[in-house]
Amino acid sequence: SYELRLFPCVPPASELIPPGACKTLNSAAIYANNEVDLAEVDIYGFDYDYTLALYSNALNTMIYNQARTFLIEHFKYPEEISKYEYVPNFAVRGLHYDIQKGLLMKIDAFHYIQRGTVSCSVNKIYFTMGFLSRTQGPRVKQFMDIFSIPEMTLLAVANDFFITNDIEYDPVHLFKDISEAIGMVHLKGFMYKWVMQDLGELIQRGEETDAVLHRLVSQGKKLFLITNSPFSFVDKGMTHMAGKKWRDFFDVVIVQADKPHFFTDCVKPFRRLDDNGDLRWEKIKSLDKGQIYKQGNLYDFLRLTGWRGSKVLYFGDHLYSDLADLMLRHGWRTAAIVPELEHETKVVSTNRYALSLTWLQALTGLLEQLQVHKDQESKQVFREWQQERDELRAMIKNLYNPQFGSIFRTGHNPTYFSRRLCRFSDIYMASLSCLLNYDLSYTFYPRRTPLQHEAPLWMDQLCTGCMKTPFLEEMSHIR
Ligand SMILES: [Mg+2]
Repeated sequence: SYELRLFPCVPPASELIPPGACKTLNSAAIYANNEVDLAEVDIYGFDYDYTLALYSNALNTMIYNQARTFLIEHFKYPEEISKYEYVPNFAVRGLHYDIQKGLLMKIDAFHYIQRGTVSCSVNKIYFTMGFLSRTQGPRVKQFMDIFSIPEMTLLAVANDFFITNDIEYDPVHLFKDISEAIGMVHLKGFMYKWVMQDLGELIQRGEETDAVLHRLVSQGKKLFLITNSPFSFVDKGMTHMAGKKWRDFFDVVIVQADKPHFFTDCVKPFRRLDDNGDLRWEKIKSLDKGQIYKQGNLYDFLRLTGWRGSKVLYFGDHLYSDLADLMLRHGWRTAAIVPELEHETKVVSTNRYALSLTWLQALTGLLEQLQVHKDQESKQVFREWQQERDELRAMIKNLYNPQFGSIFRTGHNPTYFSRRLCRFSDIYMASLSCLLNYDLSYTFYPRRTPLQHEAPLWMDQLCTGCMKTPFLEEMSHIR
């Protein structure tokens, strides 16, 4: 019978999410791509911005406003652009931007463009194409930085302004000008100034960062810091979070490191900054506690410290400039900070999401079975179900973000961002503070996800210990 409608008879959503899984859908949890045993980690390394110092969203608005001002005053763009206010939840990290067409889009792990995730009113170009070919590579930029969210918003706004007002413009110039305007906010020191003036407002979870560092040091771990930011800025922020003696936590501190080149070039030598912040000229023969070093490179770092291989765990928020080279070339373990998990795990834990996704899966299964029936009535029902499936997918996407959906999935597939996250990080978490929830001898085990030809026979949620299901009881009888 085609009268089948599952909605009225599905159990309440709380029963749909296995209780064991509930426990892991949590922004305080650390998730594993690879098995990591913390007992084996002796040395913890950190990036600074968005890793040790987590910034509030207010900073994005400030970066956007200042770059918009540069665009009008320095690059002489039309004054009317100033009427476009910052839209906080417009862009998401990991989007691609077509420089020549002026379009933001979300690409999945197989280079397909997710339908309905192309910004601006010219959606149809990509609806017909729908696939990002490799030949488009150089024309397309991926935004992986959390700092790039205001940049994407300004790009969308400026493109929208020119298109809706029917003004002819060159999207390539627009892209260059906006990149430069955003760059000026950083280079002219605006961002550093704002953060240093309002540490309490703009840096979040500072006490938790302090607690993490304290705990690691008290358990005999070695700590180091490699950041691209200047010392005066890091010093202000760290003093705010961990007190005047923050440098006691770290065995090595490296500022203005010029990552990712720090990890790939072996040319730039380390230099020492003296107490006045002046560069010293002498050759660096060791990296000493209490000193501040500038620039340098990973090869010298490895040679001088001897910190190699899997006893080192490095934390960073940028998948490419913090983690990729370490993972691919140097064998350190890597941990990604993904602040977006805070919001995304909240969505995944709602009843509405659980219901919609369960029904989507059931409906997809029904479509798969129904397609072999070629009579008119079956074909009609097939079309209706297909439409319902499209609506459900759009609705689920909107639960995360109305324009671009989740940063981890495009429909069924992982995103390009997700694939990179799996490749370049052993573990990932919403913030450094998640580490406080685990013992330092804890082993993170990745969940086994079935491949397409495998049956999901295992239920590893059972291991999390909070389930009381008939199945579990049965298992205990067997034991
Ligand atoms: Mg960073």
